[in-house]
Amino acid sequence: MRFFRLAPIVFCAPLSAQGPSPPDRAVESITAEDVLRRVAIIADDSMLGRDNPSPGLEKTAAYVASEFRRLGLSPAGENGGYMQRFGINRWVQDTGAVLSRGEVPNVIAKLEGTDPVLRREYVVYSAHIDHIGVSPGQPDSINNGADDNASGVAGLLELAEAFSQPGARPKRSILFLAPSAEERGLLGSAHFVEHPTVPLGDIVADINMDLIGRNWPDSVIALGLDQSDLGETLMKVTAAHPELQMTPIRDRWPEERIFYRSDHYNFARKGIPILFFTSGTHSDYHRPSDEPGRINGEKESRLVRLLFYLGTSIANQRSRPQWTSVRFQ
Ligand SMILES: [Zn+2]
Repeated sequence: MRFFRLAPIVFCAPLSAQGPSPPDRAVESITAEDVLRRVAIIADDSMLGRDNPSPGLEKTAAYVASEFRRLGLSPAGENGGYMQRFGINRWVQDTGAVLSRGEVPNVIAKLEGTDPVLRREYVVYSAHIDHIGVSPGQPDSINNGADDNASGVAGLLELAEAFSQPGARPKRSILFLAPSAEERGLLGSAHFVEHPTVPLGDIVADINMDLIGRNWPDSVIALGLDQSDLGETLMKVTAAHPELQMTPIRDRWPEERIFYRSDHYNFARKGIPILFFTSGTHSDYHRPSDEPGRINGEKESRLVRLLFYLGTSIANQRSRPQWTSVRFQ
C-alpha cells in the first residue's frame, strides 16, 4: 500500500522574474568583438605566422595559457602546467633536409564538471594554434593564418570564457586543447592521444574547430554528423536555438578528404566520436592574405554560441556518445 503525503506548498517566482538560465546568460559572453580582438592578437604580424617551432608560436601558446589562467581553468598539461611539449624536426622547406630538432607546445586546460561521477569524463574542444610561418621573397611575407586557425583558437577561448561564467559548468568536465604542429601532419594531437594528460578512455567526444571565420554567414560544415549520435545531438541543439541562424551541413568537397586533415582525426582513429566544424577554404588559404580583417566575427560568434550549447548538451547527457557507423575509415 502506498502512503500519500500532502505535497508541500512551494512558492514559485513568475518565470519572467527568474530571467534567463545560467547557460543562456553565459553564452552572451561570446561576442563578435571578443572574437575579432583575439584573432587580431593571434594572427598579428608580430607572431610571424606561428611556425613550428618559433618564438611566435611560443608567444601564442603563452597568450592562450594566460587566458586559461585568467578564466580560472585548471592546468591539464604536464608537470602541473598548461603546456605539453614534444620534439619536432626543423627542415629546409625546399630540400626537405632536416636542420635540427626543436620543441613545440600543446596548451591544455580543464574545467571540472559538477557531477561527482560524470566529472571523471571529458568533452574535448580542440583548435590548433600553429600555422606555416613566413614565405620569404613575397611583398607581404607573413602568413597570418587568421582563419587558419586564429579563428578556431579565438573560438576555443570564447568557449572557455563562457563555460567559466557562474552556473555554466556542466556535469562532465571540459578539456580545452590547443595543439601545435597540425600543419606538419596533425603532430600535436597525435602526440596528445599517445600521451594523454587525462585517461583517453574517459574522453567522450572531440569537437574540433579549424577555419571557422569565413565564407557562409548562415551555415557550417559539420563533419562526423552521420558517424555517431553526436549528429543527432547537434541537430536537436540547432533546432532549439533558431536565434543563432546557423545550420550545420554535410561535407561539400569530399574530394578534399578534409576528414583526414585536422586534429579530430586523431581522436576518431582512437575510437572517440568527433564533430569537426569548418567553414571551408578560400583563395587566401595558406597565403599571406589570410588576414584578420577578413574574418566575419559576427558570424563566428553565432557559430561558437551553437558549439557552447552543443558541448553543454553532450556534457549533461546521461550516457556518453555512441558510434552509429564506422564509415570514417
Ligand atoms: Zn588549420
